Amino acid sequence: MLTVRNLKLLQTTRNILFIMTDTHESKYFSHSPSVTRSQLLRTGSSFQKCSKESNDAIKTLKRKVKKEKIEIKYETDTSYDNVGGIKKEKWEPSTWRDQLKNIHEMRKNRDAPVDSMGCDVISDVTAKPEVYRYQVLLSLMLSSQTRDQVTSAAMSRLREHGCTIDNILKTDDQKLGQLIYPVGFWKRKVEYIKKTSQTLLDQYNGDIPKTVEDLCKLTGVGPKMAYLVMKCAWNEIQGIGVDTHVHRISNRLGWHQKPTKQPEDTRKSLEDWLPRELWSEINHLLVGFGQQTCLPVYPKCSVCLNKQICPYGRSYKSPKKSPKKLPKTEIKKEEPV
Ligand code: SF4
Repeated sequence: MLTVRNLKLLQTTRNILFIMTDTHESKYFSHSPSVTRSQLLRTGSSFQKCSKESNDAIKTLKRKVKKEKIEIKYETDTSYDNVGGIKKEKWEPSTWRDQLKNIHEMRKNRDAPVDSMGCDVISDVTAKPEVYRYQVLLSLMLSSQTRDQVTSAAMSRLREHGCTIDNILKTDDQKLGQLIYPVGFWKRKVEYIKKTSQTLLDQYNGDIPKTVEDLCKLTGVGPKMAYLVMKCAWNEIQGIGVDTHVHRISNRLGWHQKPTKQPEDTRKSLEDWLPRELWSEINHLLVGFGQQTCLPVYPKCSVCLNKQICPYGRSYKSPKKSPKKLPKTEIKKEEPV
């Protein structure tokens, strides 16, 4: 006999739900095809000696069953959560498949800056694997708040200088600053690169960490970078790398139940519904799309294939061009004859 600690009776017009909790397990009935109505009532009657609250609930149920002859129907769908037996529908944006197909179409030429200057392209694939991985990490550190062209040029100078942990640690800060200038926040990045390189040498035997958690412990490395490093350096997809493009575009397309404020919220929201097999491509796809079409300011909605199925694009009005100001004509005073 179960020791009842809690019993809830939830009733809708079609379903009756018991939740019985004993010290070892939770059970819920009514949607389970294995429980018949009489079993349900028998189970209920076994609680009559239990708490007053439980007894009252059972009496109410019995009265209702008798009076209204409620028919207990069982559903064949078993997608319930394990807390209250409530059906949990998986949310996904209604038109995401069409939107994604259109983005693929618009990106088919692969001619965005990220296609020729992504972190994996500007690192030296012919170097030792650990050196290549270090360069992937460095190129991602340089790329934050920086255009791909500037990051690529900085990486090219670093590689020419010798982009290995030992050599970067031997390089003084001033020289390193000159090599990476003008990437965004270059002074701070000199500091981050030095600290991170020292950590890699001391704690990771001159290689980079192999988990998102450990990567995030490195100075100047956040989740976005960590997920991209896992993908590009270790070829492991542990999550979606959400940068400013993915954050902006996914919100414009209505890919979240509620608009997200932080990239981390965007990542969690996307990972909730986007099929896992698409996680590896989504960052690269949207970054290029954001560089060419869905620009941060003045997106090119009028030429976008998604303009009819994008909530942002449908309401977007491109700014009217202000009429060109005519150059002021200089009226020269006539010289006295
Ligand atoms: S319609 Fe405009 S906002 Fe929507 S995806 Fe296209 S470019 Fe971006």
